[in-house]
Amino acid sequence: MIIVMQAGTGDAELREVVSRVEGMGLKPHVIVGTERTVVAVVGDERNAISSGFETLPGVASVLPILAPYKVASREVQPEPTVVRAGSLVVGGGTMGVIAGPCSVETSEQIVETARAVKAAGATALRGGAFKPRTSPYSFQGLKEKGLELLAEARAETGLAIVTEVVSPEDVPLVARYADVLQVGARNMQNYRLLEAVGRTEVAVLLKRGPAATVEELLLAAEYILDGGNRQVMLCERGIRTFEAHTRFTLPLATVPWLHARTHLPVIVDPSHGTGHANLVESMAAASVAAGADGLIVEVHPEPARAASDGGQTLDFAAFGRMMAICRKVAAAVGKTM
Ligand code: PEP
Ligand code: MN
Repeated sequence: MIIVMQAGTGDAELREVVSRVEGMGLKPHVIVGTERTVVAVVGDERNAISSGFETLPGVASVLPILAPYKVASREVQPEPTVVRAGSLVVGGGTMGVIAGPCSVETSEQIVETARAVKAAGATALRGGAFKPRTSPYSFQGLKEKGLELLAEARAETGLAIVTEVVSPEDVPLVARYADVLQVGARNMQNYRLLEAVGRTEVAVLLKRGPAATVEELLLAAEYILDGGNRQVMLCERGIRTFEAHTRFTLPLATVPWLHARTHLPVIVDPSHGTGHANLVESMAAASVAAGADGLIVEVHPEPARAASDGGQTLDFAAFGRMMAICRKVAAAVGKTM
């Protein structure tokens, strides 16, 4: 349920509400909005709803949260969440552009890419150091060495680092280097991993599982939010359908659907979403038109030589063209890019 505080209520009233909620064995999430402060109460709230919170000083009203996800819902927080992680700002009218190779390979590769994508307007650098690969025989990533190379690219360019963490025990290590922890599509429902990233103070990019519904995506985000980490971005990266002309099917209706239900920013990945470099520019532009708050795009100095996902990866020139078109679309829909 949501306990809506009266405008201008003092700290003492808020503390009393919070301690009563805790006293019932429930968890209060205090959300300070521009218009009002609310306390989202989560847990088994069957008895709480009839326990007279509306009679407490400073309380304006008590409402049930109808959505199955709670802290993620627009009911709890009408204003959009803006995620800030170093150079990356996503949401509230500002587009974030995360670009870089699928995998970190060498110092030259990652630093050269960071410089090129920054020059073209990217606001963060992506690159996998821990790679979740379908085959155990495929390149698994440089692991900690890859994180060091990402840190070197950040030192050279100032770009925030977005990199994937694949298991709960790696979270402390990856969080020491990353500005944004990516939870990949295969791990969207790895609940222990979601809890572990939820305990950090590092922003999270949560990718939709290829067989997950959007409601399951929101419930996965809820695990991170419930852990106390509010800096969460959702990512549509395509789902598995009967279609085979693209690697996945990229459903862009997800973007406005999510915006209607959650305050969390929504990013689109047209690289994994299509699997083909020649489709990325169009789908990136379409994502911006659909209202995406950001893009994550694979870029490599020589896509044909990439250690992973070369076929869907843009070279620097193609990324520059994509950015030019996306900027025009962003301006048309009133976004800053
Ligand atoms: C990636 O970003 O390289 C990746 C593995 O993505 P996904 O989890 O969406 O497959
Ligand atoms: Mn990839």
